[in-house]
Amino acid sequence: MKCVIADFSGFCHGVKDTVDAIESLLKDNSSKKVSCIGLPVHNPQVTNRLKELGLNVVESLDDVDSGTLVIRAHGLPPQTIFKAQEKRLEIIDTTCGIVKNVQRIAEKLNQDGYTVIIAGEAKHPEVKAIYGYTSQKGIICTSLDEVRKVEIRGKVGIVSQTTFSKKIFKDMVHLLTDQKFSEMRVFDTICNSIAKRSTSAIEVAKSVDTMLVVGGRMSSNTKRLFEICTEYNPKTHHVETEAEIDLAWFAAAQSFGLTAGASTPQWIIDRITEYIAKR
Ligand code: SF4
Repeated sequence: MKCVIADFSGFCHGVKDTVDAIESLLKDNSSKKVSCIGLPVHNPQVTNRLKELGLNVVESLDDVDSGTLVIRAHGLPPQTIFKAQEKRLEIIDTTCGIVKNVQRIAEKLNQDGYTVIIAGEAKHPEVKAIYGYTSQKGIICTSLDEVRKVEIRGKVGIVSQTTFSKKIFKDMVHLLTDQKFSEMRVFDTICNSIAKRSTSAIEVAKSVDTMLVVGGRMSSNTKRLFEICTEYNPKTHHVETEAEIDLAWFAAAQSFGLTAGASTPQWIIDRITEYIAKR
């Protein structure tokens, strides 16, 4: 059976930098405890591996009193970073440069008197961090319905979660242009690596009999890849590891395609392709 792997599958550079930094800190001989607020990446297999190496994954800063705090690629609200500095923690900031750019834009808009609309998922850590950079005054919109309910006047700036849907973002901007703002500034801050990943995943999904999307169930870009691949190939399946694969999916298939979210490591992709090849 032919296997086609989409370009840009697996770790993006932002996630890779976070994982590499944590691994190198844990392998260092220092006896300092290394902590991360929230999952270091939205992939349970990678997180478990890092925990086995000694990473302390905590829910909040209240759970860290000493040692090193790693800020993951999604970033942290400035208020939390400030408190971590007050606690005299060693801070290793691996916030992705693209996410930092969104934070800077949101901060500047807020300082300049714009109401900041953040297109994204309210519970996503990246969005929570961006919200912090608006002095917690931003408006988070996940859906078009939420945009319709926005009741503000004056100057408005809109930014996006880096892994948000480009289509929904464009539709939101279109809806907002109907409102009577004195000024509206639009920043398409969706990550290019996510856009390229989606385009190549669609090409592969169209060309194969069965499509696999590999990645954590909490990973927002993996969920989005699954949604778009399903549109082009109804025989698309989302799995985290080879243990979830049902070989019946490939019974009549001459070819299968694979794409993977930005938090999926190469070793999981390799294990899945090897598992299918052996059967
Ligand atoms: S998806 Fe893009 S913005 Fe997000 S961590 Fe990866 S490279 Fe950075």
